[in-house]
Amino acid sequence: MPLVSPVPSGVRFQRRGLMLVLSSPSGAGKTTISRRLLALEPEVVMSVSVTTRPPRPGEIDGVDYFFVDDATFTRMVEHGELLEHALVYGHRYGTPRRAVEEALAAGRDVLFDIDWQGAQQLREAAADDVVTVFILAPSLAALEERLRRRAQDSEAVVRYRLAQVAADVTHWAEYEYVIVNADLEASVAAVRAILAAERLKRRRQPYLSEFVQQFRVAIPQAK
Ligand code: 5GP
Repeated sequence: MPLVSPVPSGVRFQRRGLMLVLSSPSGAGKTTISRRLLALEPEVVMSVSVTTRPPRPGEIDGVDYFFVDDATFTRMVEHGELLEHALVYGHRYGTPRRAVEEALAAGRDVLFDIDWQGAQQLREAAADDVVTVFILAPSLAALEERLRRRAQDSEAVVRYRLAQVAADVTHWAEYEYVIVNADLEASVAAVRAILAAERLKRRRQPYLSEFVQQFRVAIPQAK
């Protein structure tokens, strides 16, 4: 859907961007789905989080995360610079507010790879703008295999994360949409279908009341 479209009446309209939250226990394939979505949907931008977690090999500061120390994170919280923040797997993570607000104001959709705590906070802060999707691995065995194959985390971290999965999964029912990621392309298609439908919600097309005015001229006047 084009961001700005000329319509016959000459009205130019810009839809209201939405906040698409993808959450899942580790290893369900959420990061891969996010990357594919960003490649296919030019109007979607990723929210880059800040974290106190050390970078993994290959991760780039400012692309994967903004890697900060604890004092910087605390300062950002105190200055109200984070839209939401939470402690996840022993490290602090948060969403910088300004980039999100700017993207939404420009009519873009923002994609969030955040946990259930972050999803709850965003829902409380901006219920009308938030669309939540929970992604599940097809089985525990598949999840375990994906975590080990990733092999960037130590065995102890893998085991710790597996232990968290049981707790994370209990939050699935808080989400509007749930996708079991058995097939990457099918899951990406499902997220795109959600996005397409949510963009068409009436409240996300605020220009419509002006747009429909042009059709009123055809209403016959009562004599
Ligand atoms: P990882 O360390 O594997 O990149 O991410 C660990 C978990 O932290 C993932 O479940 C991810 O969704 C979550 N996470 C990443 N950034 C944020 C954030 O800004 N806020 C919240 N609440 N969770 C986040």
